Amino acid sequence: MRKVLKVMVGNRMIILSVLGVLLYLAISQYHISLWYIVIAGSALGIIFGKVFCRWVCPMGLIMEMMMSMGGDDGKIKQMYQYHKIGCPIAWISGFLNKYSFFRIKLNEDTCKNCGICDKKCYIVAMEPTKYSLYKPGNIKPGESYTCSKCLECVASCPNGSLTYKV
Ligand code: SF4
Ligand code: SF4
Repeated sequence: MRKVLKVMVGNRMIILSVLGVLLYLAISQYHISLWYIVIAGSALGIIFGKVFCRWVCPMGLIMEMMMSMGGDDGKIKQMYQYHKIGCPIAWISGFLNKYSFFRIKLNEDTCKNCGICDKKCYIVAMEPTKYSLYKPGNIKPGESYTCSKCLECVASCPNGSLTYKV
């Protein structure tokens, strides 16, 4: 299972491209109401947390492609955040990160405190004194509104101390 997750995380942009294009084609070909997409994205949030933005969303795909072309351009990164602020699926599923069935869990008994996971997380990078995947007392970034379940943290842990499960 861990191997599958690692392969998925390593190929996330390919998965996002396929699902994003398929979703776009389905919406445009079959004139699916955006309300159905909002309901489906929110239902996904109940099960998996905020996975829609980085694994399924056509707009998320476009924004990530723009970010990768823009290098470290802070304006493009900000634009991505603004885009997500305007999206009801991001609001709802971000709120559900705390309550979803699947969540990022730490096994404190096997964790070696190496800090590799924190280095992979963009939320920890923004506020390193506030968030940490393993430090006791810090807020878990996986439960914050901003976590879009890239799962880089889980895939990077050399001990398998982080899992994404029910
Ligand atoms: S999945 Fe992990 S690495 Fe990605 S944003 Fe959430 S906590 Fe950070
Ligand atoms: S990468 Fe794994 S072992 Fe290292 S601090 Fe994070 S959870 Fe602990």
